[in-house]
Amino acid sequence: MIVTRFAPSPTGYLHEGHAFSALFAAAASGPGGRFLLRIEDIDTTRCRPEFETAIYQDLAWLGLTWETPVRRQSEHFAAYGAALHQLRARSLVYPCFCTRKEIAAEIALSAGAPQGPDGPLYPGTCRGLDEAQRAARIARGDAYALRLDMARAASEAGALTLVESGRRFAATPGIFGDVVLARKETPASYHLAVTLDDALQGVTLVTRGEDLRPAAHLHRLLQALLGLPEPEWRHHALLTDAAGKRLAKRDNAPPLRDLRARGISPADLRARLGFA
Ligand code: GLU
Repeated sequence: MIVTRFAPSPTGYLHEGHAFSALFAAAASGPGGRFLLRIEDIDTTRCRPEFETAIYQDLAWLGLTWETPVRRQSEHFAAYGAALHQLRARSLVYPCFCTRKEIAAEIALSAGAPQGPDGPLYPGTCRGLDEAQRAARIARGDAYALRLDMARAASEAGALTLVESGRRFAATPGIFGDVVLARKETPASYHLAVTLDDALQGVTLVTRGEDLRPAAHLHRLLQALLGLPEPEWRHHALLTDAAGKRLAKRDNAPPLRDLRARGISPADLRARLGFA
């Protein structure tokens, strides 16, 4: 049975790009499959309850139905913490005390610092601290993030592959370098939370926009490290405006509720998006 999900963040109103993504996920579950909705509200500073309410209203207007209860990430910090604890006990994550400014300064010094999908790769400054130094800084109250020791993690997991749109490829999680898995203000990164949630919800086919295609490589590694099942992925092209610019919440994409107010029917919108 195919289990898919749509996983919006309640940081704004849904627009046509989200409608496409939600309809794509629901269609991909096929007849007899299951379609789930997940609220990705880990960043409690940017998420707002009125946007979450609007998500339910807009998706229902589009004609979608989903299973309840809906998983809300903000209710599962303990599960993410337990996974981090497991990785930490195996020395696969380490505390990083660098500020963003310090990292930028260090990167500016090294010509041609490698770029990853989420920005320049972390230069590894805190990777070599010994346990006593780490303990002392934590005891002193220094803020820190938890980073994955990519070299160690990749060597522990061995060679991995992943299935994208029905084809198996080599997974290359190293493109992310020592990626952050948790910060003080965000107890789990997008990458960690999504990987755990998809597994805990039994998602077998992860569908989403192609801007997140590289993330699957890291998620595959986290699945292997945490002993989670391997889903398949299907990334879709992103909708663009007439000028070819990607639709974005704050920019060039009218919210679905505005389309609704203008008298556009869900059937019109579905047809326009190719889901008649
Ligand atoms: N919450 C993410 C977003 O709104 C989607 C993540 C995913 O589908 O894996 O872009």
